[in-house]
Amino acid sequence: MSKNKSSESVKVVVRCRPLNRKEESNGPSGSIVQMDLRLGQVILRNPRASHSEPRKTFTFDAVYDANSKQRDLYDESVRPLIDSVLAGFNGTIFAYGQTGTGKTYTMQGLWLDPEKRGVIPNAFDHIFTHISRSQSDKQYLVRASYLEIYREEVRDLLDPNHGNARGLELRESPETGVYVPDLTSCVCKSIKEIEEVMNVGNQARAVGATDMNEHSSRSHALFLITVECGQPGPDGRKHIRVGRLNLVDLAGSERQAKTGVQGERLKEAAKINLSLSALGNVISALADGRSGHVPYRDSKLTRLLQDSLGGNAKTVMVATLGPSSQHYDETLTTLRYANRAKNIQNQPRVNEDPKDALLREFQSEIARLRAQLNHRKWRSQQKKEQVDGEGDEDAECEEEVEKEAEDYVKQEEQRLEREKEAIRGDRSLMAEEKHRLLGEKERMMGDLRKEQEANEQLTAKYKAMESKLLVGGKNIIDHTNEQQKMLEGKRHEIAEQTRREREMQQQMLVQDDETLELRDTFTSLQQEVEAKTKKLKKLYAKLQCIKAEIQDVNDEHVRSRQELEQTQNELTRELKFKYLIIENFIPPEEKNKIMSRMTFDTEEDQWKFQPLVPTESKPLQMKKRPTSAVGYKRPLSQYARVAITMGVNTRFRAENIMFLELDMNPPNTNSLGRLKETEGNQSSSVDSSPTNDGGLHKSRSWCQSQKSITSSSSNVSLTSCTTAVPAAAQ
Ligand code: ADP
Ligand code: MG
Repeated sequence: MSKNKSSESVKVVVRCRPLNRKEESNGPSGSIVQMDLRLGQVILRNPRASHSEPRKTFTFDAVYDANSKQRDLYDESVRPLIDSVLAGFNGTIFAYGQTGTGKTYTMQGLWLDPEKRGVIPNAFDHIFTHISRSQSDKQYLVRASYLEIYREEVRDLLDPNHGNARGLELRESPETGVYVPDLTSCVCKSIKEIEEVMNVGNQARAVGATDMNEHSSRSHALFLITVECGQPGPDGRKHIRVGRLNLVDLAGSERQAKTGVQGERLKEAAKINLSLSALGNVISALADGRSGHVPYRDSKLTRLLQDSLGGNAKTVMVATLGPSSQHYDETLTTLRYANRAKNIQNQPRVNEDPKDALLREFQSEIARLRAQLNHRKWRSQQKKEQVDGEGDEDAECEEEVEKEAEDYVKQEEQRLEREKEAIRGDRSLMAEEKHRLLGEKERMMGDLRKEQEANEQLTAKYKAMESKLLVGGKNIIDHTNEQQKMLEGKRHEIAEQTRREREMQQQMLVQDDETLELRDTFTSLQQEVEAKTKKLKKLYAKLQCIKAEIQDVNDEHVRSRQELEQTQNELTRELKFKYLIIENFIPPEEKNKIMSRMTFDTEEDQWKFQPLVPTESKPLQMKKRPTSAVGYKRPLSQYARVAITMGVNTRFRAENIMFLELDMNPPNTNSLGRLKETEGNQSSSVDSSPTNDGGLHKSRSWCQSQKSITSSSSNVSLTSCTTAVPAAAQ
């Protein structure tokens, strides 16, 4: 992928968790992972190799050791990304690593302990605090969705019956990229509300799984937040920026044991890791840069992350490691993936004024309701003025207008009540007249009440809509005092400084290697020999490292090839088994019928049956239903209708029985093909059609020799018979 001006690489950070109790009790071997926080390097020791063998060193954007704090990781590596999302970029954070290495700990952490809250709760705080502190001319709309991918099915975790529902489909649009059309999305007005959404989803995840640990190590969880921000631009018009944030907790990256599994379990094992192996392939293809095809379509996960890997998004990958020597291979694989991901180039851009911004819909709906309300209020004010006989020029303020409208309704009610009393007390009126006048007043009061109710409903709707929009510096009360704000600011500055320092150190290291040769000037031969020997040693060590690396990569390729071969063998065996069943137990014509109806849906990566009843695109194949026979006992056949128009035999009108001449030939057991050949030239009016004739003989031969007719051939003759009749009758 070519590097252009607006492109930036995926940020990759590595985190290693502390040794757990079980690993500590296993022996004194200690951690195999060492970290240089200043340089952002991970140094991996092979527990099976001799001490002289060089260790493997990987450099990343940042590394976090066992003592690292959740807050440090957030401030240094995640905060800039969330700031970008708030400015209208797409952002993705995903945790990748073996089961039990701290992916969920990093993404979610322990919610109740402020020190151990992970990326997700910190991001919630960040987003809503930012909104509360922003200028008051900004309007925000925050939405959240939660889904999981389990066995290659996308499930909506906020849908109450997600356990029973079928997997959701994915769609692609040029504006928003890949999305899930029917996904539930909740508008959130505060941290509490968005936490509630997360809780509901987590519970749905736990309920759906018999063993939560097993489930979480096999399913990928995606929490999606959309932040829309409306602000008047320099041109005076309102502009909307939409930032989308994907927070992804992936399934464990370790290899699932595949050996010896068959049938359903084989399929399951293949699906569990399909998304992850596809992710690996996508990362490799993008990092390589040479292969034009990136296999995003191979899995649901890679399709959903399509924009995050090589597209319109800023991405942070947190690779998690365990320090135990038992998992050396897995740790090395994780580091290799992470190292490759560093080379992926994304092209993030601000999403400005997209067509599907919900904020715009909300704004126009609010404006519409407001106009309606204003109109109603204006109307009632007008009426009031008519009653009072004076205009109230000062009632500008909205609340005043509202109050006045209420007062007007009350006054009107009282007035009507008084008038009713007066009518009741008026003796000069006839009883009938009184009744009529009272009814009229009653109706007027009913109208008044109805109008008031409609007003109240409209106001409630308007307020509910308006409350969903967060206005900068208004909706959320910021409890932090100035000192705290300053402290936060300083912490961010320090994080930023550490990041820049590390970048500079890494650059210096690279430059050191390059300029080594240029700097050296030697005063004596001896000095030159010493310096060059030192350099040679350094280069030799490097060479050894690279050789070991090549060997490792080769070994890994051989291993994965063997695994693939084994899977292929198992799948071939499975295929042979299915073939055996099909060949021996399914009649060939049935098989052909089924096969002719099958089509491959590339969108869903599945074979599908074409419907038996043709769709609108092929209306010609549809047989017409006979229209009811008005005045006849039963519907008329085409033959009978033709016969009637030709006036051949009136018997057809009532009985609708086909008139066919007796066939005097002896019973014939020849096959259909031969029949057609021999009788094709006969010229009787009805029997002139060879296919029709075939159909006739066939029904006779059916009783005599069933074997000569197959079900598919009977189909052919039946259809040809119906088409042949009108031709014969002409
Ligand atoms: P994963 O999601 O990768 O399968 P978890 O996040 O569930 O792994 O972590 C496994 C265990 O390790 C949990 O008990 C968690 O509390 C602990 N753990 C993980 N990372 C850390 C860390 N950086 N510091 C302390 N404990 C950790
Ligand atoms: Mg987990």
